[in-house]
Amino acid sequence: MEDVPGTPPQEQLMVGITRLGQALRITSYRNAGPYRLSPLQADILVFLAGDPRPRRLTELATALASTPPTVSDAVKTLTAKELVERGRDALDARAVSLTLTSDGAAEAERLSRLPPEFARAMSDLAPEDLAAMLRGMSSMIRSLQDRRAIPVTRMCVTCTYFRPQAHPGSNKPHHCAFVDNAFNDEELRLDCPDHLNS
Ligand code: SF4
Repeated sequence: MEDVPGTPPQEQLMVGITRLGQALRITSYRNAGPYRLSPLQADILVFLAGDPRPRRLTELATALASTPPTVSDAVKTLTAKELVERGRDALDARAVSLTLTSDGAAEAERLSRLPPEFARAMSDLAPEDLAAMLRGMSSMIRSLQDRRAIPVTRMCVTCTYFRPQAHPGSNKPHHCAFVDNAFNDEELRLDCPDHLNS
């Protein structure tokens, strides 16, 4: 596709996205912490912390764009490290449901903190640049989800409760019908436990 005059070249944006992906991967390996977690093990803890309900292995595999055997191996390791507990699913006796232990919840909280190097890089950006990034990322993720290029995540722009531009002209133009609150671009959520698929 041709670039539109006045907009950044798409190839350059792709290079930037790739570089950020590399930076995240490097940070994730450096941030393995006291339990020496792999990036997938860390993602599992953070995902389970995002929603206190017990989750099935298949849900984890779908949400993390992985396969059930790969996630199963990672969960075995997390169980051995006493960060995750396996239980019987309330709706299906053959299925296993997963929850965090208290140590797992503490580790997920540590992992959820913004890495210092990213915090510093973001604090150098103007608020309007950060808001534009969040808006652009949300739209791009939604577009990739619509094309089934990535799994559906629990973000505002795919949520039944999301009312975009419900308050035009206001500094909080969007509305969340779940908590009945207005909010702005800076507050768009990319992973909300109250999300309901639209
Ligand atoms: S419930 Fe969560 S995801 Fe849905 S609109 Fe409200 S804040 Fe966004």
